[in-house]
Amino acid sequence: MIFNNKLFYFFCVIFCFVFLPSCSRSQLVSRRCFVMGTVVEVLCPSEAGATIVFDEFKRLDRLFDYFSDASEVSRLNKAGSIKASEELKVLIRESIEFSRDSNGAFDITCAPVVDIWKKAIRNKALPDEAEIKKALRLTGWDNISLDENSGRVAFKKKGMKIDLGAIAKGFALDCAVRKLKAKGINSALINAGGQIYCLGTNAGRPWKVGIQDARKKGDVIGSLYLDTKAVATSGDYEQFFEINGRRYCHIIDPRTGYPADSGLGSVTVVADNGITADVLATAIFVLGENKGLELAKRFKVSDVRMIKEVR
Ligand code: AMP
Ligand code: MG
Repeated sequence: MIFNNKLFYFFCVIFCFVFLPSCSRSQLVSRRCFVMGTVVEVLCPSEAGATIVFDEFKRLDRLFDYFSDASEVSRLNKAGSIKASEELKVLIRESIEFSRDSNGAFDITCAPVVDIWKKAIRNKALPDEAEIKKALRLTGWDNISLDENSGRVAFKKKGMKIDLGAIAKGFALDCAVRKLKAKGINSALINAGGQIYCLGTNAGRPWKVGIQDARKKGDVIGSLYLDTKAVATSGDYEQFFEINGRRYCHIIDPRTGYPADSGLGSVTVVADNGITADVLATAIFVLGENKGLELAKRFKVSDVRMIKEVR
C-alpha cells in the first residue's frame, strides 16, 4: 500500500472507520458531548476550546435538526417556503453547487427517499418499489429556489423536504473552528462522529488520525498525519441491513432511490474544510471508484482513500 501519494486509494475487503489514537492525549483536555445525533469529541489544550465547540454545534443543531419540529429545517420542510437564516442560506447554496458538481450524487432533497430507507433499516425489510418511485417524484436539487437578496428558500414541488445529514457536521466543524480562532485557540482536534477537523498541530506535531478495521477493532490499516485539515468518512458499515447477500445502507443514490451500490465499503476524504470533506465523502461513496476519483481531482482534495468491497 502506498501512503505518500497526494491522491490515492487502496482496495480491501474490510471496512473501516476513523478513530483517534490515545497516545497523544495526555497533555490535552478531552471532552465529549452528544449533539447533532452523534458524540462530538474535542481534544484541546484548554477546557474553553471544548465549550466553544459544543456551544456552536448546539446552536447549529437547533437550526438544522431534521427530527425537531422547532428547527428551521423542519419549518421549511413543513411550510415549503421560508425566509432563511444566513446559516441555512449558506448551506442550501453550497448544497446546490455540490449537487451540480456531483451530477446529483449529492442531493439534500432526497429526504423523502432517505426516510423510507431509514425505516427499512430499522425494520430490516425492503420497502415497496412503488413507495420509492412516489417519493422520488418529490426530489431533485434543481427544485429548490433560493433568492439571495431576500433570503427566501422555496420548494418548487409540494411535499418536498431537505435533509442536511451529509453536510451539516462538516459545516458545523468549519463554524466551530472559526469561533476557536477568533478566541485565539489555534490547536484542537474535533471529531463529530467520523467528521473530523484537525486545527493546527498537537504541540508542534501533526494530529494523527487512524483508519481502522471496523470488524477487528484495534487493527489499524492506515494513518493520516494532519495539520489544519478536515477529514470525513462515509461508509456502509454503521447503518445497514442485508438481504440475500446484498447490503442496504443509509446513503442513497438520489438517481435511483436505492442505497448506493457503487462497490465501495467506505470513502475517506481529506480537504481544507469540513464541508468539502463531508460532502465529497458522501458523493464519492455514491459515485464509486472512477467517477469518485474524477470528482476528488476536480476539487483538488488533499487525499482520498477508498475501500472497495470485494464481491
Ligand atoms: P454521511 O454519513 O455524511 O455520508 O451522510 C449520510 C446522511 O446523509 C444519511 O443518513 C442521510 O440523512 C443523508 N443522505 C443519504 N444519502 C444522501 C445523498 N446522496 N445526498 C445527500 N444526503 C444524503
Ligand atoms: Mg457527508
